[in-house]
Amino acid sequence: MKNYLKHDEWCIIEEGFHREFNEITESVCSLGNGRMGQRGNFEETFTGKTLQGNYVAGVYYPDKTRVGWWKNGYPEYFAKVLNAANWIGIKVEIEDEILDLNNCEVNDFTRVLNMKDGYLERSFTAILASGKQVRVNSKRINSIVDDESGAIRYSITPLNFDGKIVLTPFIDGDIKNKDANYDEKFWEEIQKETAFAEGYIELATKKTGFHVLTGQRFEIFQNGKSVDFQGFPIKAEKFVASQVTLNVTANEETVLVKYACNLSSENHNVEDLLSKSKAYLKRIAAKGFDKMVAEQAEKWASKWEMNDIVIEGDVAAQQGIRFNIFQMNQTYTGEDARLNIGPKGFTGEKYGGSTYWDTEAYCIPFYLATADQQVSRNLLVYRWKQLGKAIENAQKLGFKDGAALYPMVTMNGEECHNEWEITFEEIHRNGAIAYAIYDYVNYTGDKKYLGEYGFEVLLGIARFWAQRVNWSEAKKQYVMLGVTGPNEYENNVNNNFYTNYFAVWCLKYVIEATEYIKSTDEARFNELVSITNFDETNEFGKFQHIIDNMYFPQSEELGVYLQQDGFLDKELIQVKDLPASERPINQKWSWDRILRSCFIKQADVLQGMYFFEDDFDLATIKRNYDFYEPMTVHESSLSPCVHSILAAKLGDKARSYEFYNRAARLDLDDYNNDTEDGCHITSMAGTWMSLVKGFGGMRVRDGKAYFSPFVPENWASFSFKVRFGGNLLNIKTTSDEVIIENLAGGDTSIFLYGEEQLLTEKSTITVEQKDAVAV
Ligand code: BGC
Repeated sequence: MKNYLKHDEWCIIEEGFHREFNEITESVCSLGNGRMGQRGNFEETFTGKTLQGNYVAGVYYPDKTRVGWWKNGYPEYFAKVLNAANWIGIKVEIEDEILDLNNCEVNDFTRVLNMKDGYLERSFTAILASGKQVRVNSKRINSIVDDESGAIRYSITPLNFDGKIVLTPFIDGDIKNKDANYDEKFWEEIQKETAFAEGYIELATKKTGFHVLTGQRFEIFQNGKSVDFQGFPIKAEKFVASQVTLNVTANEETVLVKYACNLSSENHNVEDLLSKSKAYLKRIAAKGFDKMVAEQAEKWASKWEMNDIVIEGDVAAQQGIRFNIFQMNQTYTGEDARLNIGPKGFTGEKYGGSTYWDTEAYCIPFYLATADQQVSRNLLVYRWKQLGKAIENAQKLGFKDGAALYPMVTMNGEECHNEWEITFEEIHRNGAIAYAIYDYVNYTGDKKYLGEYGFEVLLGIARFWAQRVNWSEAKKQYVMLGVTGPNEYENNVNNNFYTNYFAVWCLKYVIEATEYIKSTDEARFNELVSITNFDETNEFGKFQHIIDNMYFPQSEELGVYLQQDGFLDKELIQVKDLPASERPINQKWSWDRILRSCFIKQADVLQGMYFFEDDFDLATIKRNYDFYEPMTVHESSLSPCVHSILAAKLGDKARSYEFYNRAARLDLDDYNNDTEDGCHITSMAGTWMSLVKGFGGMRVRDGKAYFSPFVPENWASFSFKVRFGGNLLNIKTTSDEVIIENLAGGDTSIFLYGEEQLLTEKSTITVEQKDAVAV
């Protein structure tokens, strides 16, 4: 765990250059706008530890899978969102010396991510080998208003000399993904063009044929006045630049304003990319940097207005939650239904930018409560559009009759993971995809969705489960063999409780959904019967038989469900007895040792109790929690938040807070030692959940919102906003009272500590804080 970033309510602040942590800070300081994202890299040359990263949404490459012995059913490729041309580059030469923070003395360094207004700013004084000193300030945005562009204001002031500096703004398209399976380059050059203060380069991805045109246009100012300069255009392989030599005087500022765009063939005709880029840059340059920054702040203000969480009395926690909300908003805006949310968003390459079960299990609840309903709907429809591929995926594995197995990792609906032994058998993802439909319908009341899109997905998934289980003569029950549950530290196990439970739930839910569609829209139901070749009597007969006869491993003696068959044969040790030097076990132990151990990577049985809490009484949840949590190493970022919510439910406020903090500051403190690969974007939605569902005790049941908040001991108060049923509510909890404001929407009512409270339009109610646990 690290603690080098300064605590502040709205900013992430690096004071003094921590070059050993540079890649971590780069991840944390990433900027994104849903369409493109840029790590917090330096504009000027840097030869130290860095991962240069610019990612353009939807642009990916199918990198051939690496395996030892090929087996039927392996995915052909692992898709990765590509690291694209570097658009931020500005080479700075001072007389004959290149400005490179790796090779000079750096003083008064700060790098600040301003989350309130959405920009990154960096300042430092560099003392070069020659003794020359310069003061630099750079400010940059990835515009959320003009979301195919970014802009930089780069200021340089000589402190102790007059002379020449050479500024060379460039675009470098000769980029290689750090995680390339075969060390190949994925981009081909199509065309480039340079002019005196402009440059364009069009690259296309090999195999997938996406085209991205990255363009730059720049202006120079000295002493606040525009400079009439001569740019010397440079072209090299996958590289364009313009070199400008300037006379500078001590203590006088030179400013280069660079506008850049990334236009992709996902959004424009390939033949128009060059002309559109030119027009785009002309337009934003006419707007100007200051206006772009002002518009950015305005747009962020309206986002914060809808989903800020305010914590009083704990700056570290405040910073943590805002960082999570900020990154969620930077990653996915919901405006483009073709896009989804990669576990690292635009902050790194790991996980390839592909879609995982994380979207349904973790992100949908966040967007349901903080964004327009359409945003979560888009995420659901994304899976509906991929149903055909999910059916093909299941067919490849030998399933039939419309059974659908959604991929664990996907870019376009095809399975494309890199790690067979773990990912392949994590068929539980099908459950989360079905659950998200339930979650959406339950939260929004949009039951029509079931007939429009939901049913087909639910039926495909249910058909899969019905074929995936088998009847055990020995047990006289259905069993499910050879699966991997959410805990990836167990592979190829039999009867994973979570997966078995989810399978049965899916079967029940499709029956319930079908009844609703049949009773409300018979014509649509008949249409669906013919689209899906659905034989209600036979198929539901089979489903019901499985529902009634499924096997769930459990220990009556301990009163707990077993994560899988044979779990109790393991040596049951607790994490607290593991020496710190052996953790994280995924970096210290052999895989063989991990698989044999009882240690749990992330919530598994408990993930099921979190989803289906109303199916279990509190005592059962507590027994399972007390049994599994001490064996859980939380080496997946998706784990602490689920435990935080369960701990809150069980009244263990201190643990709930501990887990929350770990989740909220996971990347800021580099808790798992892996933030340099990118931030844990999808688990950030989990952090939000642990605050709203954990401390806020928010649940939605039968069209009503329930709250049961308590304040963690170290906080004076916290307040969060949720959209629910056409209203925007702000729920503030102090140690004495709960204040609920109905900020927008008409009259409504909610349940607070189990009692119904009327909230008339624009009204505020104040109720005594009961310090109750969430139920
Ligand atoms: C977790 C998975 C998750 C993936 C991407 C893994 O470490 O175990 O549950 O889907 O990360 O976030």
